[in-house]
Amino acid sequence: MRGLQLQAEWAPRPGYTVSEFERRTGKAITGASVWRHPKLELTDAAEPGLGPKDVRLRPAACGVCGSDVHFYETDKDGYMLYPGLTKFPTVIGHEFSGEIIEVGREVRSLRVGDLVTVEEMIWCGECVPCRNGWPNQCENLEEIGFTIPGAMADQLVVGAKYCWPLGALEERYGSRAAAAEAGALCEPTSVAYNGLFVRAGGFNPGGIVTVYGTGPIGFAAIALARAAGASRVIAFEVSPFRQTLAKQVGADDVYSPVELQRAGTSPHDIVLQLTHGAGADVQVEAAGAPAITVPEMEQSLAIGGKIVMIGRAAERAPLYLEHYQTHAAQLYGAQGHSGYGTFQNVIRLMASGRVDMRPVITSRFPLAEAAAAVVKASRRQDGKVMIEMM
Ligand SMILES: [Zn+2]
Ligand SMILES: [Zn+2]
Repeated sequence: MRGLQLQAEWAPRPGYTVSEFERRTGKAITGASVWRHPKLELTDAAEPGLGPKDVRLRPAACGVCGSDVHFYETDKDGYMLYPGLTKFPTVIGHEFSGEIIEVGREVRSLRVGDLVTVEEMIWCGECVPCRNGWPNQCENLEEIGFTIPGAMADQLVVGAKYCWPLGALEERYGSRAAAAEAGALCEPTSVAYNGLFVRAGGFNPGGIVTVYGTGPIGFAAIALARAAGASRVIAFEVSPFRQTLAKQVGADDVYSPVELQRAGTSPHDIVLQLTHGAGADVQVEAAGAPAITVPEMEQSLAIGGKIVMIGRAAERAPLYLEHYQTHAAQLYGAQGHSGYGTFQNVIRLMASGRVDMRPVITSRFPLAEAAAAVVKASRRQDGKVMIEMM
């Protein structure tokens, strides 16, 4: 098999204590403190074996995620920027769809030829958090394209229980190619769904939603808020290109925080102005810059308002808790996308036509140019860069 492999040197930073877990598993908990000199290369490897409960997929489409870009980008000391759980070398790629080409002997619900999308989080189902209903907090977590081989490859083996069939999207879009592209967008859309609805509990129809940062997660938050009956979706984004896409997926108002600052105003002023002082019911952090965004959000909270942290950042953010007390407000942390009907409902929303994320795909590359696709995404001029193997 052939795949885009990420190699990096295990070189814990001076002062970083390697834990017993990290030594035992070879997984770095804080990737940015351990992995140095990352390198991307299309390589050949042996075909993975197929367990009785596994399926073998031929990936059809695989999106390049901000995490993939952060694997490849380094700081001045040569350490990768991605802060989370990682084990290298591995083939990357975790936002994907694929066609099943072989099923294990105990697999009942899937057949050869089915088009599926796959959860990226390989929760064990046996640890205490999993048993208590917290699959996104699994203690034995593996992550496709982070700690185990991903989908920027010509084949991939995954457990059948992590797969979600895309037949309804093929019907809706009238072609397997279109369903495969939409299917590759289910993972980031599910991350936004998990934050907005599963963690934060959503909002009542007519509620007002703000989204800070319109990368793919922000786009999904906008589309989902719209589909869920928000009366107004206000987005903040610096890139003019992404501002246009944010409108396309359903934002009513899109502002550049930089331009607001230049004009002597700020995002929270705008939110208060647009809501006649009422503030926003749900505010989504999808910029990965909480030190800047959260102080804005907390100054435009509705009574009972909610802030949802989805963007990742290895930094502290200042909180003025008085705002949370006076507004009976809440801040929610969210990661992952598994459980609670999330993938199922995202696929249903796409199949119903109420959510269509395909306009955010702005570049397409063949597998042979997968490394170039990651470089293209690192220029941050795209909505979503997609690698296509169809
Ligand atoms: Zn991702
Ligand atoms: Zn678990």
